[in-house]
Amino acid sequence: KTKKIAVYGKGGIGKSTTVANLAASFANKGKNVMVVGCDPKADTTRTLCGKRLPTILKTIKENKNPDISDIIFEGYGGVLSTESGGPEPGVGCAGRGVIVAMKLLEKLGVFSENDFDVIIYDVLGDVVCGGFAVPLKEDYADEVYIVSSGEYMSLYAANNISKGIKKLKSNLSGIVCNCKGIKNENEIVDSFAQKIGTKVIGIINRSELIQSSELEAKTVVEKYPDSVESKNYSILADSIWNNDFVSSLNPLDDDEFEDFFKKFIS
Ligand code: ATP
Ligand code: MG
Repeated sequence: KTKKIAVYGKGGIGKSTTVANLAASFANKGKNVMVVGCDPKADTTRTLCGKRLPTILKTIKENKNPDISDIIFEGYGGVLSTESGGPEPGVGCAGRGVIVAMKLLEKLGVFSENDFDVIIYDVLGDVVCGGFAVPLKEDYADEVYIVSSGEYMSLYAANNISKGIKKLKSNLSGIVCNCKGIKNENEIVDSFAQKIGTKVIGIINRSELIQSSELEAKTVVEKYPDSVESKNYSILADSIWNNDFVSSLNPLDDDEFEDFFKKFIS
């Protein structure tokens, strides 16, 4: 059975970085991996492929009947990569773009002809955006992870996102703690996870290596295979691979969230 994962989280928290490095780790373990970038920025697969990919939406604007090779590209470790793209900034809905892209991938037999072990969706994080619900509503993904640091706004977003996830009747399979290096960070994220009825599935430290790899359009997993960072992504990949945790989500209301957070900073 294919593991179909969607990754959510506050803007700029590290979703795309996590998705790309996770995909590279899965590939290192011999898994057949596909990454679908669902953000109009189309930057998820850059570090896997070494460059920005043309997006599906842009491609079909010029050619109504593209081949698979026009929209899917092989990246590090054989990871198949694609970017849905989206409407021009300021017009249109990102969710529509994802649906159009997915329908085309289905029509071209991408999912039926490849025996994927893992498909990872990098989702546009904002709860009020049409792009948010699509991977869950349309059943593209069946496991959801949220990336968060221990910062107030990051966890606040994680809490809101879990409200959205709960409405869509999905479970939250875990939180990836992508550290910002704040005090008691692991403890805060761990305690928050328990509070809303999920768990921390892995911890990635804040690291210069991740950023310097990104500058060279590489994942840290590819660029520094022997680093602690690379090892942590590998551990995260194993945890996700073995995760069958099903939660009953219990997001906090705003007052509960404030109380929770104040307890940790006082
Ligand atoms: P967006 O919501 O804009 O799509 P995102 O959640 O996908 O953002 P990324 O693009 O993955 O976030 O990361 C934002 C920046 O933070 C990048 O420059 C990335 O290199 C950096 N970053 C992510 N994780 C780490 C980390 N663990 N250590 C250091 N830098 C990191
Ligand atoms: Mg991103």
